[in-house]
Amino acid sequence: MAEESVVDPGDDAEVIVIGAGMSGVAAAISLRGAGFDDVVVLEKSSRPGGTWRDNTYPGCGCDVPSLLYEYSFAPHPWSRGFAPQPEILDYVESTAATHGVNKLIRYDTEVEAGRWDPDTHRWYLRTSAGPRTARTVILATGPWHRPRHPDIPGLDAFPGTVFHSARWNHDVDLAGRRVAVVGTGASTVQFLPEIQPRAARIDVFQSTPQWVLPKPDYALPPALHRFLGRHPSARGALRGVHYWTQEAIGALMRHPRLLPPLEAAARRHLRTSVPDPALRETLTPRYRLGARRLIASDTYYPALTRPNVHLHPTRVTAVHGHDVIGADGTRAPADVIILATGYHIGDLPLAPHLHGAEGATLAHTWSDNRRAYLGTSVSGYPNLFLLVGPNLLSGTTAVPTVLEAQLRYITAALTHLRTRGHTAMDVRPEAEEAHHTAVQRALRTTVYNSADNSSYYFGVPGVNTFCWPWSTRRLVRRLHSFEAGAYTWSGTALKATTPGHCSERVVFGYGN
Ligand SMILES: Cc1cc2nc3c(=O)[nH]c(=O)nc-3n(C[C@H](O)[C@H](O)[C@H](O)COP(=O)(O)OP(=O)(O)OC[C@H]3O[C@@H](n4cnc5c(N)ncnc54)[C@H](O)[C@@H]3O)c2cc1C
Repeated sequence: MAEESVVDPGDDAEVIVIGAGMSGVAAAISLRGAGFDDVVVLEKSSRPGGTWRDNTYPGCGCDVPSLLYEYSFAPHPWSRGFAPQPEILDYVESTAATHGVNKLIRYDTEVEAGRWDPDTHRWYLRTSAGPRTARTVILATGPWHRPRHPDIPGLDAFPGTVFHSARWNHDVDLAGRRVAVVGTGASTVQFLPEIQPRAARIDVFQSTPQWVLPKPDYALPPALHRFLGRHPSARGALRGVHYWTQEAIGALMRHPRLLPPLEAAARRHLRTSVPDPALRETLTPRYRLGARRLIASDTYYPALTRPNVHLHPTRVTAVHGHDVIGADGTRAPADVIILATGYHIGDLPLAPHLHGAEGATLAHTWSDNRRAYLGTSVSGYPNLFLLVGPNLLSGTTAVPTVLEAQLRYITAALTHLRTRGHTAMDVRPEAEEAHHTAVQRALRTTVYNSADNSSYYFGVPGVNTFCWPWSTRRLVRRLHSFEAGAYTWSGTALKATTPGHCSERVVFGYGN
């Protein structure tokens, strides 16, 4: 018989949200707004903000227009058309404070494992601060949370300093140093122009060139905000221009035959920014625009033309002493290596430790595919919701739009659960399968599926687990109508209407 441990009733909640980034904060606010008072947010760090707390590299900011990168219930007087990281972090923190979410967040509490108990219809969580239980769990742990560290022979023995761009080491002064940058994704595009004037020499290792469009960034002066504050319809119109521009670009990506004018604009941007034909050739992508996340910058290409910056079209294969070595034999002596090698995108770190109704882990369920009904519910994992889950985004979508649509859906689901007296809801496998099949079929003709498996859109080999194949408007509408018929609903005799007893060994009996 398994040993029992008592869970303090204070450690039980109707809903536990895991993560206090943009998603977790919004989840708590919308649940409270919908009348769910018993909500707790567990955050492993000591501050909210997620992405915008962790990524502090020079030049970090959002790459969708600021007016789209905000909660609809908290319009903000952004300083620029594309907001910088400190301002976004401040926005998330102050929104959490204004809406009373701070007191719901339990900081320094990492959720390590969880298990659905089919008898009590509750989730039992193991956290770094003790066990907790909840009727419902919302995973807001972020698709861009875990930095990807490359496996480069000799890197561990590098005598200089190494850090990942997502965890910038501000103690290292780059002035007068030789810097090697590994990778040329969205982060490098933002930080390279910032560090270029300071470093003595920068060697940039590029395995895949990016399509880069001009960035229509501009200051948003206080006078303009005063005007927009007095005329909310004008703000709505400005926001609408950005929204429909993003939607129009998304439409081109879904119909790649319409892409050539946009590709021509990107080539023109490259031509006017980079006079050297050899460098231009190195920077010219060999895949269709949109097959990877779209990037906009007016400063990246000019930074690459500076005499102290050297671009190497090769991946890094080894580090020997101070030398960073490319697959083509390039040797670049460096004092500092910056790994700009991205994130484990959508690869939920908790998945190997979340046990569903049958005891299997989510990692096991997802071993050959990563699927969720409307990117939100996974069959066999009752009362569990994923925020910014699989196949919800694209190259141009602003996360808050998707997030808020999901939260409307989830609050509708939980209201249904509560008002009908049910205690468990589980998406029907056939609904999940039909949704997945439709998404994958529609993706086939989009540009998102035209790249190889090295694109992060392909979360598992051969399967695009990232992109939504239709318009954002369609996604919002789809999530607007909650279909109870897609789920099975059940009640329990409530063996533990209060949290009562839970057995660690039974709860975590699957190899944690
Ligand atoms: C550099 C960068 C730029 C970006 N720019 C844009 C952009 O321009 N537009 C856009 O739409 N999106 C952008 N994104 C994506 C961005 O991540 C999302 O927009 C959004 O911030 C995600 O919020 P989130 O709350 O879902 O996840 P996160 O911000 O990642 O927050 C997750 C939170 O969960 C916590 N957590 C994780 N695991 C656990 C656990 N086991 N227990 C307890 N807590 C846990 C983390 O500490 C973190 O606080 C960018 C991402 C990066 C990295």
